[in-house]
Amino acid sequence: MEHKLADLSNRPLRDLRISVTDRCNFRCRYCMPAEIFGPDFQFLPQESILTYEETVRLARIFVSLGVRKLRITGGEPLLRKGLPSFIRELDRLEGVEDIALTTNGVLLRKYAKELYDAGLKRVSVSLDSLDDRRFRLMNGDRSGVQPVLDGIAAAAEAGLKVKINMVVQKEVNEQDILPMAAYFRDKKLTLRFIEFMDVGNTNGWKLDKVVTKKRILEIIQGWAPVEPLDAHYSGEVAARYRYKGSDEEIGIISSVSDAFCSTCTRARISAEGKLYTCLFASRGHDLRELLRSDRTDTEIGRFIEAVWMARSDRYSEERASSHSSHSPKIEMSHIGG
Ligand code: SAM
Ligand code: SF4
Ligand code: SF4
Repeated sequence: MEHKLADLSNRPLRDLRISVTDRCNFRCRYCMPAEIFGPDFQFLPQESILTYEETVRLARIFVSLGVRKLRITGGEPLLRKGLPSFIRELDRLEGVEDIALTTNGVLLRKYAKELYDAGLKRVSVSLDSLDDRRFRLMNGDRSGVQPVLDGIAAAAEAGLKVKINMVVQKEVNEQDILPMAAYFRDKKLTLRFIEFMDVGNTNGWKLDKVVTKKRILEIIQGWAPVEPLDAHYSGEVAARYRYKGSDEEIGIISSVSDAFCSTCTRARISAEGKLYTCLFASRGHDLRELLRSDRTDTEIGRFIEAVWMARSDRYSEERASSHSSHSPKIEMSHIGG
């Protein structure tokens, strides 16, 4: 039977994004700028991070409330040991239709096959430039491009469906839009452009640094004509386009210029077990405490239900209309995008 849980805007709970670590081997300026996430930065101590057992239990409860898709993220999720067996456990949960992973790709060459064998179906690999110098500038000088391309190749060879995510920032990597489009069209992999977002409090976001969906489309259309495609399902975050006369696609995630809150069915849990009902939330709901008390699954389920039923988040739709500053937001590296 379909679960009828819905929030205040009648949005069901369908997707769960699980952050398995707040640590990362990159220092992307738009996410974890090195001057803030430096050598002295206090990451979560091990004991505050949910164990895989606790996370699988939570996932089971979320699935009983209607969740069908899981996405593993971070920080950099491949830094967490034992990820393939965790994915195998998630894959065993009845009702889960899809498990995906978001990664910066550098460790994919090592783990792609194991992840696929464990039941992972899809990976999104983040890559912002094919130019080594610019890529290094963007990721805090942590990696050149080649290890990521190797990871992408290994994932495709292992049988995973691969998509590439590129965050576009004005005066930073706008010039990489066409080289990236040409390269991944040639590889027959879908590239998705993501508008630079004001996540967290430390990435120096300004509206005039955003390259809008409209502008990205103009750039692409000036090079190779594309036509819009229907969404695969309601709530798909990327608007899809196909290069005319081919099967190759691109996507654009326009969270700033054309928000999609009205169809947002995503919940997020941070590595320490806080539930967030929006990427831009300032406050999470502590599930770890419930897990580590003697509450039953039904009781924890009721708590989550109550949080979801009270949900009114639509930050991106309100962004344009609000001029005042918002309360501090959760950092992206905590909840993984
Ligand atoms: N470390 C993994 C990675 O980079 O793919 C997973 C976590 S990362 C926070 C998830 C996604 O969020 C990445 O695709 C990243 O590019 C994107 N992201 C991070 N900060 C962003 C921002 N300020 N605006 C738009 N996307 C952002
Ligand atoms: Fe790490 Fe991903 Fe954030 Fe970059 S975007 S710093 S790879 S978590
Ligand atoms: Fe969903 Fe919040 Fe993003 Fe809107 S701003 S799409 S409610 S996560």
